Amino acid sequence: MDLNFSPEDEAFRKEVRAFIAEAKQKLPKGIGAAESANRTKEDYLAWHKLLFARGWVAPLWPKQYGGTGWNVTQRYIFNEETAAADMPTTLPFGLSMVAPVIFNFGNDEQKKKYLPRILSGEDWWCQGYSEPGAGSDLANLRTRAVREGDHYIVNGQKTWTTLAQFADMIFCLVRTNPDVKPQEGITFLLIPMNTPGITVRPIIVLDGAREVNDVFFDNVKVPVENRVGEENKGWTYAKFLLVNERSGIAGVARSKKAIERLKQIAEAEMEDGRPLISTDEFSRKVAETEIDLSALEFTELRTLAKEARGQMAGPESSILKIKGTEIQQRITELTLEAIGYYAYPNARAFGDNEYPVGPDDAVGQSGHYFNMRKASIYGGSNEIQRGIIAKAVLEL
Ligand SMILES: Cc1cc2nc3c(=O)[nH]c(=O)nc-3n(C[C@H](O)[C@H](O)[C@H](O)COP(=O)(O)OP(=O)(O)OC[C@H]3O[C@@H](n4cnc5c(N)ncnc54)[C@H](O)[C@@H]3O)c2cc1C
Repeated sequence: MDLNFSPEDEAFRKEVRAFIAEAKQKLPKGIGAAESANRTKEDYLAWHKLLFARGWVAPLWPKQYGGTGWNVTQRYIFNEETAAADMPTTLPFGLSMVAPVIFNFGNDEQKKKYLPRILSGEDWWCQGYSEPGAGSDLANLRTRAVREGDHYIVNGQKTWTTLAQFADMIFCLVRTNPDVKPQEGITFLLIPMNTPGITVRPIIVLDGAREVNDVFFDNVKVPVENRVGEENKGWTYAKFLLVNERSGIAGVARSKKAIERLKQIAEAEMEDGRPLISTDEFSRKVAETEIDLSALEFTELRTLAKEARGQMAGPESSILKIKGTEIQQRITELTLEAIGYYAYPNARAFGDNEYPVGPDDAVGQSGHYFNMRKASIYGGSNEIQRGIIAKAVLEL
């Protein structure tokens, strides 16, 4: 693993920085990486559209479908620079979840129909995997699809569906055969959200945002041509998608930026007449987190080096997911500790009418802390990831 950047890499870094500087002028004010309860659909898509216009929206796609054709080092640099500049992230559901399933397992018609619309941001996708009673135990999902001629009739419920209120399309795991081993009776369907019989109901989360939803299917008619791959083979495609989802959650570059911000806050906050950051206890906690982050970064680099040799990420994506989310949560805990009493009056989310109390840095931090409790649950809970490591990596 060569950790030095070539002159070409450095030239690329400059190009990315120039692009970011220009993009910052065009983005709505206040649209940074920090979560906002009040983000509109247009806010979410603003960065996506700028990247699309530059041809940079899909670093993970093959060039033939509109990907950037970047090597892993370029992707690494791009992530580092966008995180350091506090740029927003693009949403993963279309770009890095369903699109790779479509270009690996879909037919030509599906590639032609869906990929350009994901690329341009015209179609917003959401993920219809989890159900009440089928989260960790995903293979036990019950949403039923019964074949009737050239259609499936879908009935059931999905839950925790992130930002489904904005979605044009949902990719869904449905049960097409209830009489076999659970994994062998699942099919992967692409369903337009405006199909009659679909109802979306909000679930309001701890920071007051409408981030997730229940989605109900009542006799929803889905053309057979919307099926990816073969009937009852959906579990294979579903697992492929989950590996991509987990690798993407590690968020090393974003955590580096968050630690930098934490240090600034702890520099300004005082304890016993001196900056919090210079107290033994707090500086030790920050140092421990930085050491863990550094170890995670090298693990991520090892995974990228493997990818550069043409090997896919496998179950080790679970390690990235666990450590990445633990670190993200720890940073929010330390931030809350640093802002102390100011966390309380700011417990509500960004965008409130009330004037916040305390330093600007404190605004939104408690909402962010509560929101980040989700990170050890979504993408497959961290307990489940430990089980995967025990079995597939350690062969216990
Ligand atoms: C903010 C957020 C956004 C999400 N977005 C989406 C989305 O867009 N689309 C989607 O399909 N899903 C989404 N999810 C759902 C997510 O994938 C599930 O919440 C997750 O898989 C856990 O399932 P569950 O909630 O049913 O919990 P359960 O499976 O009921 O687990 C409850 C607890 O028991 C533990 N547990 C369960 N089984 C075991 C075991 N065998 N060994 C050890 N511990 C175990 C779990 O770790 C967890 O702590 C989202 C979740 C959250 C929190």
